[in-house]
Amino acid sequence: MADEHDHEHDHEHDETQVQKVVGQEPDLSRGTARPITVVGNPVLHRETKTVTEFDAGLSALIDDMFQSMYAAEGVGLAANQIGVDLKVFVYDCPDDEGVRHIGHVVNPVLEDLPAGRRTLDDSQEGCLSVPTAYQELARPDHAAVTGQDKDGNPIRVEGSGFFARCLQHETDHLYGYLYIDRLSKRDRKDALRQMAEGTPKYATVPND
Ligand SMILES: [Zn+2]
Repeated sequence: MADEHDHEHDHEHDETQVQKVVGQEPDLSRGTARPITVVGNPVLHRETKTVTEFDAGLSALIDDMFQSMYAAEGVGLAANQIGVDLKVFVYDCPDDEGVRHIGHVVNPVLEDLPAGRRTLDDSQEGCLSVPTAYQELARPDHAAVTGQDKDGNPIRVEGSGFFARCLQHETDHLYGYLYIDRLSKRDRKDALRQMAEGTPKYATVPND
């Protein structure tokens, strides 16, 4: 997912504040940034494969995904955004309380929310695979994802606000959906127009 476009949450970027971090920063001596696939590339528009091998190859993929996400200045990245057909995403994303969440989830499944907790948040959303475009999109302001870590241990990641948006956005990717697929026809068209008029600040994979 792309970084926040609006400035409602400026406190999150206040470097003078001591920042609370949930998770661990990746070792950036490992991995290589790869170019980002964009809307129209088939790998983004179908469900990715379940990960069954929790091996060194998976760890190396996660290293590359963190490098690619940081190179593109994103706050979340799904494996198919670097052309890999596997259910994995990484994130380094603030929530609305200024807490920075860092991690990865393999084979994520979004939990159904208890009925009482469905409060919608209609902030702006962007995606590295729809470069330079942003649109408002209403999503539940709370989300929880279950899955596995890179060693195959069961994990559960829960978040609110902008981080809840990220968890939903990245899980969607792995099932073949972009956020623009959830927009009205008009907003989707506008997002694609913004993309056509903009120039990404990171390397992308050209579509045929
Ligand atoms: Zn995205």
